[in-house]
Amino acid sequence: MTTDQIQANLIQASHQIDMDDIVREGFPTLREVANEVSLPLSDEDIRLGEKMMQFLHNSQDPIIAEKMGLRGGVGLAGNQLGLMKKVIAVLVPNEPEHDEAGQVIPPKEAYKLQEIMYNAKIVSHSVQDAALETGEGCLSVDQEIPGFVVRHARVTVEYVNKAGEKKKIRLKNFESMCVQHEIDHTNGIMFYDHIDLKEPWAIKDGMLVIE
Ligand SMILES: [Zn+2]
Repeated sequence: MTTDQIQANLIQASHQIDMDDIVREGFPTLREVANEVSLPLSDEDIRLGEKMMQFLHNSQDPIIAEKMGLRGGVGLAGNQLGLMKKVIAVLVPNEPEHDEAGQVIPPKEAYKLQEIMYNAKIVSHSVQDAALETGEGCLSVDQEIPGFVVRHARVTVEYVNKAGEKKKIRLKNFESMCVQHEIDHTNGIMFYDHIDLKEPWAIKDGMLVIE
């Protein structure tokens, strides 16, 4: 199948992206630099982004995820669908809150970050590094690869949103790690490329560990 055919299948109205659409380690697009999406955005590329976001919503819904056999995900990149296009979707939920009686209640805003990004790139970053306390996983990697995935603590990212507007956002904490993971995919980089294999859990000077 050509990548155009792959995309045409993915964006059919009746199709919902599932684990069978996600390519795994060894598939060449995971190690290639994707092409920038042409602007203004085509209807096909807008629909692709929406399908990717729908996948993330489905994957975080326990009932739908079980029915469809989805692993939970907070981000997805075009390369993971066998496409060579710089499109990513990120969906980072907020933690539940507690009411005055200490009961767990849903957060006021469901998501910390919910965005489809075309041609996302890091335009500046902190000197400080950071890593998630528990390491990272990836929908394209079926095994656990333990270790700190050392990234920039804070990044400024430029991208085009699905309305075609140019955006520039600053990110820190989990959202920063998540968006860097997805931008890496569009450049053929896997999360474990950032793990020090000799000392996977070494905390480097000044590195922030994000809970
Ligand atoms: Zn990934």
